[in-house]
Amino acid sequence: MTELNPNFTIIVPGNCNAHCKFCYWNLEKSLDRGVYLRKLSEAIYKLPDGFRRVTITGGEPTLSTWLKKIVQVLRGRSWDAIVLTTNGTKLCDYLDVNVDHINISRHHYSDKLNWNIFDAGWGIPDKHELRSDIEALNKRSIDVTLNAVLCGQFPDGRNIIRYIEFARSIGASAVTFRADQNNNSTDKPAEMFYPEISQYTIKEGWSCPACKVWGQLICGMPVSWKAAVAEPSIKTNSDYELIFQPNGKITTDWAGAHSWSPKKVIGLAAKLNSKDWMGIPKQNACSSPPRQNACSAHGVSHGPKICSAPSVACGVSHGC
Ligand code: SF4
Repeated sequence: MTELNPNFTIIVPGNCNAHCKFCYWNLEKSLDRGVYLRKLSEAIYKLPDGFRRVTITGGEPTLSTWLKKIVQVLRGRSWDAIVLTTNGTKLCDYLDVNVDHINISRHHYSDKLNWNIFDAGWGIPDKHELRSDIEALNKRSIDVTLNAVLCGQFPDGRNIIRYIEFARSIGASAVTFRADQNNNSTDKPAEMFYPEISQYTIKEGWSCPACKVWGQLICGMPVSWKAAVAEPSIKTNSDYELIFQPNGKITTDWAGAHSWSPKKVIGLAAKLNSKDWMGIPKQNACSSPPRQNACSAHGVSHGPKICSAPSVACGVSHGC
């Protein structure tokens, strides 16, 4: 049965140490800490029940001294998953952060190429630091997805396979590849850039019509391919994704221009259930990737949460 999984995203006030060319985050003026946290607390109780998943992003959320307090506020409501999206900076200071899942942006298996893409100057971990952080998180039952934006660093499918092997070797339990929105073919599903990958695909799986995710099990690793859909709500004309802005407003877009409408949220399920996305049948929506298969297949040592955790495929991450 298809299950939809709209996403609530929080843009943590603050900055970022990186300068990715594909980034669409804007530094916004924030409320004072106390007012911001109060408005966040009010916002999570206004959300319709269908919003079962929250993603914390930025800028770079680990640069904010508010991060742990924000997670504490979020724990005031029940979620299927609280997800942190980070570029890995200072992650070792947040191993005890009370989240269920972490998406780490890592754009190449080579440290040098990865650093070039981030253009950060400091803070982005090398592969040894990353492995150490992920091992520590796995021991705390927090599983990790590695995210890469496809910005020309993978000329063919062999690089994709090598990236997947790299992700496995450092303890990640899933991988997401997202098309680069600077690329002209933004609406093209990302997996179509690598047709030769099909020879490595042993099981095809889940899709999401709103955020355009298509998932597969490749070499035993759950892999999600995302089109470069910056604003899923605009594509579906429904409030599929709600974003809590640094100014305390809830909007349906990253730019913060469109306020949300409870009516549209309520009409979402019927709209999305009535059609498939680009002809791909919705065998499983993004809330149901084959996580159990992944656990037995890739042999990564991790905690019990991974099998029951909801999707890592659908959360729309900001820029990273
Ligand atoms: S994509 Fe993420 S890490 Fe890169 S500059 Fe933007 S917010 Fe920072």
